[in-house]
Amino acid sequence: MIDFTRDGHLHTPFCPHGSSDSLEAYVKRALNQGIKTLTFTEHAPLPDRFQDPTPDQDSAMALDLLPRYIEALQTLKRSYSELDLRIGLEIDYLPGYESETLALLEPYADVLDEAILSQHFLLVDDELLPIDFSAETFDVLVKRVGSFEAVMKQYYTALAAGLAFPWERLKVDRIGHIDLPIKYQHNYTWDRSNVQDEQTRLLQTIATRGFGLDLNTAGLRKPDCGQPYAIDVASEAAALGIPFVLGSDAHIAFDVGAGFEIIQKKATFL
Ligand SMILES: [Zn+2]
Ligand SMILES: [Zn+2]
Repeated sequence: MIDFTRDGHLHTPFCPHGSSDSLEAYVKRALNQGIKTLTFTEHAPLPDRFQDPTPDQDSAMALDLLPRYIEALQTLKRSYSELDLRIGLEIDYLPGYESETLALLEPYADVLDEAILSQHFLLVDDELLPIDFSAETFDVLVKRVGSFEAVMKQYYTALAAGLAFPWERLKVDRIGHIDLPIKYQHNYTWDRSNVQDEQTRLLQTIATRGFGLDLNTAGLRKPDCGQPYAIDVASEAAALGIPFVLGSDAHIAFDVGAGFEIIQKKATFL
């Protein structure tokens, strides 16, 4: 059962590539949308050694902001006791930086309620390339890896390998936008059946590890995507017993709960 009154993936003014909409604005929009449970999942700070390859170097919150982020959410929780407001992070799965990510964030894990593990970069010839920065940077990735389907396969296999690390220590309980490269799918010809084996192996790994999936409506708002992330793997995931948490991935207050009604109408796997 999916809880349609829960938005489990929200960004905040602490996001360097988001908006300056206040935390209160997100909460008010949630109340307006009938959302009762909401988790703020700002992009967690990245390990020091990692050089952000995005042109604007704006992928994540700076480390010195993390205590302020947590404090602001603790205050917010107290002001809106009628809501189930949760403190979370969207933690980047960076191939090659797993131990550093765990060491960096473990001191904060106690104050987190839950966290999402998301992959936004792929390792190509010892270089981490961004997936969702722009259509242009994504096309560089496709050309380096060989094809859109090759990117999808690598996305799945890298994530499956990464799940061997003890992400529970950071309160991770679900995987963010499991098929993120489809953000630019309309620019390419591809067939999901060609990546089925890698997809199934990843879903089996997720099921074995006991994680859930972020059923993420941001894809609906991306012109080259046109569908929620994870929706096309949902029936296979449901058959494996993997639970879902809806997420708007809102970077502006207006988008809290966005697209949930579309999933409610369409989802036959519920
Ligand atoms: Zn973001
Ligand atoms: Zn993300």
